[in-house]
Amino acid sequence: MQQFHPGEREILNIVYLTTEAVPFAKTGGLADVCGTLPWKVAELGHRAAVIMPAFRSIHSSGIEVETTDVSFAVPMSDRKLVGARLLKSTLPYGDVPVWFIDQPQYFDRDGLYGDRSGDYADNAERFTFFCRAALTAIARIGWAVDVLHCNDWQTGLIPALIKSAPNVFPWVRNAATVMTIHNMAYQGQFPASAFSWTGLDWSYFRHESFEFYGNLNFLKAGLATADQITTVSPRYAQEIQTPQHGCGLDGVLGSGHDHVTGITNGIDPTIWDPANDSKIEHPYDTTDWQSGKTANKVSIQRRFDLKLSREVPLIGLVGRLAEQKGWDLILPVLRWHLEQGRPTQWVVLGSGDPRVEFELSSLAKEFGDQFGLHVGFDEALAHQIEAASDLFLMPSHYEPCGLNQLYSLRYGAVPVVTETGGLADTVVDCNEETLADRTATGFYLHEVSPVGLDDAIGRALQLRYHDPKKWEQIVLTGMNQDWSWRKSACQYVELYDRAVSLKQ
Ligand code: ADP
Repeated sequence: MQQFHPGEREILNIVYLTTEAVPFAKTGGLADVCGTLPWKVAELGHRAAVIMPAFRSIHSSGIEVETTDVSFAVPMSDRKLVGARLLKSTLPYGDVPVWFIDQPQYFDRDGLYGDRSGDYADNAERFTFFCRAALTAIARIGWAVDVLHCNDWQTGLIPALIKSAPNVFPWVRNAATVMTIHNMAYQGQFPASAFSWTGLDWSYFRHESFEFYGNLNFLKAGLATADQITTVSPRYAQEIQTPQHGCGLDGVLGSGHDHVTGITNGIDPTIWDPANDSKIEHPYDTTDWQSGKTANKVSIQRRFDLKLSREVPLIGLVGRLAEQKGWDLILPVLRWHLEQGRPTQWVVLGSGDPRVEFELSSLAKEFGDQFGLHVGFDEALAHQIEAASDLFLMPSHYEPCGLNQLYSLRYGAVPVVTETGGLADTVVDCNEETLADRTATGFYLHEVSPVGLDDAIGRALQLRYHDPKKWEQIVLTGMNQDWSWRKSACQYVELYDRAVSLKQ
């Protein structure tokens, strides 16, 4: 522990355990959080470091990754030792060290968790190894850690290992553990036999909550043993404590923890700033947003070979093609608009479920002048779509926080969202009252169905056509909001302080 004298502010040493952090590895919002929060916390005067696997993608981040001479053996089960070497780099800002656990057999692969044929079969082994190796790495780095901040199921064994085997990891015995749920639906569930990779006695399987209906559940182990549980928005924190959104683990959240703390993610305003964005052709701000967005719309129309039109409303979507994101609502509405020749244009960027990809591709072939599609992951195009769109759709069935609606607010692409999780916490539905008090920033689906989505799009377009002043008010209210990380980082530090003082 850091020396602390009364009257002085305590500087905390915080280690972030994660499998994703921009710019080194990313499949979703977890990477944005773990690539930004550590340096925002460092800016507040604390010491932060990140430990993550040395996935293949870390070598194409554009930031140098050095090999160190620190290597060690990690016991896997009671029969096998697996070697690990530490690699080192830093986050692009804030001088925050990033330590990578290098084990090519486990991590030097194209995907992080799987490939097109599904999840890798040895994920339980890979991430048990990561958890054990990360704990050993902390001793080898020589940090006196105050807080271990674990993220998602891949790191869920860490609090459980510390609690079950404090004598094996004495250097972190007194550290406070924080477990953050970025998405409750992904729990890391495996056959019970995978527990043998932990090397722990089988008596711990049930006692320390590794077990879930006869299986090994990484996330449950973390939730049951961490000192603090957080998730990425206050509304989602409430939702996951109910059977509807708890994905079977609501009971675990209710037992032994007063509550789950919800802290809304921030965005990096230096990367997502329409006035200074090198990825878009026509930067703009609140004074020239109309001409700026129209110019960006024409650029997108050219790129996708859509019919050129400055007036037609452009509807944008960026994200994983996963059930969570409401594709069962979007696809019928998109087809309806295209087949009926409704006066809208659509642009979609995403990858994921091959069935959704297939349906989108057939629509794009058939209605090429009204619908542009890019299947894949393309950071620059995500920015260009935000800059060009009049409306941005996120009709998610659940949404722990969501980042795209925050980017949309900042880029004046009015979000159309379901009233759930972080979407409900960050977007204010447009109605008479919220127009009058000038808080409206978007449109909610009043019914979670294709009809409900089409209705919300209709209400938005109605206002845009018939009341341009009110439309401008909604756009500017969103653009002027501050969703930067500073506030969230302060809330995390308060939580770390609380966790550390409860531990003493
Ligand atoms: P989730 O974490 O559930 O995927 P979020 O909205 O929290 O959703 O975060 C998704 C992040 O990934 C955002 O930064 C978004 O812009 C980005 N993203 C998702 N899909 C793509 C894609 N195909 N191309 C570029 N960026 C993408």
